[in-house]
Amino acid sequence: MSEPYKRVALIGLGLIASSMFWAMKRAGSTAHVSGYARSQETRDTARRLDLCHSVCDSAEEAVKDADLIVLAVPVGAMGPVMEQIAPHLKPGATVSEVGSVKRTVIEAIAPHLPNYVHFVPTHPMAGTEHSGPDAGFASLFDNRWCLIVPTEDSDENAIQRVETYWKSLGANTERMDPEHHDMVCAVVSHIPHLIAYTMVGVADDLKRVTDKEVIKFSAAGFRDFTRIAASDPTMWRDVFLTNKDATIEVLGRFTEELMALQRAIRTGNGEQLHAYFTHTRAIRRGILEAGQDTDAPDFGRAKVDR
Ligand code: NAP
Repeated sequence: MSEPYKRVALIGLGLIASSMFWAMKRAGSTAHVSGYARSQETRDTARRLDLCHSVCDSAEEAVKDADLIVLAVPVGAMGPVMEQIAPHLKPGATVSEVGSVKRTVIEAIAPHLPNYVHFVPTHPMAGTEHSGPDAGFASLFDNRWCLIVPTEDSDENAIQRVETYWKSLGANTERMDPEHHDMVCAVVSHIPHLIAYTMVGVADDLKRVTDKEVIKFSAAGFRDFTRIAASDPTMWRDVFLTNKDATIEVLGRFTEELMALQRAIRTGNGEQLHAYFTHTRAIRRGILEAGQDTDAPDFGRAKVDR
């Protein structure tokens, strides 16, 4: 595969950006990668890990010669970071970002974009509950979807280069429009996280179930909830604040279904429960058949070497 960019800048050096760097390295990329994170601590860790070819002390320095600039900071920080780097971008460069929400991120970034750069938003549908520069690993994106979410103004050639780049990191790509992206992600990612946060909160609230029992008897179901509920609080706060409409809509549907199941339990309607669970089991089978998960413990997400 030909190298789509000579110089790549990663702004924000957490789970996603560090995994991108390790995946580029694994692919044998010859591109120079510069990185920047706002805290000295993260920059020091990145230098210790040899994460990026150069770790810069300012975002301006990191982006100045880059052909591809990827914003990998929390969704709520995308606009301010874009504003900060805008005057330092090279004409013809492509700005991309990996935020979990698209419509509000595009609205936050677009006003700051100089007219001589391209903009191609993306969302790699891969992650773990870990964050920070030491959380990344090369295979994070393998066989996962990276959604490419062009704006009306995105240049076709720039979109295709971003697609080539993500394929080189191991991902499959698919294009989607921002509104649809936000609805799909509310269903497959955002609401499941909210439910996990709630369930762990409820278990903690039920003082009849002690902490000891929760840990000792934690079977796969609850254990997986606790893993998801350990996800980064800043990232998820921003996701819900910026994907408000889709989240509220899906949450409304979820509550209706929950009430229907609650009624079936109260009235002893075993037939309804069985039919419902049979249907959901088939959906799980579909996910496995699509290669988007494995039956391995911990959903096959064990951390692997770089
Ligand atoms: P992360 O591991 O928490 O790293 C976030 C990075 O952003 C850190 O380098 C942090 O710098 C920097 N940062 C935090 N707040 C900032 C601010 N206000 N201004 C400037 N920089 C800031 O996060 P991540 O998991 O890589 O997520 C990055 C992006 O990818 C987010 O938009 C998220 O929605 C998206 N995403 C995440 C996942 C996932 O599962 N984690 C999956 C797909 C997409 P310091 O370390 O110096 O504080």
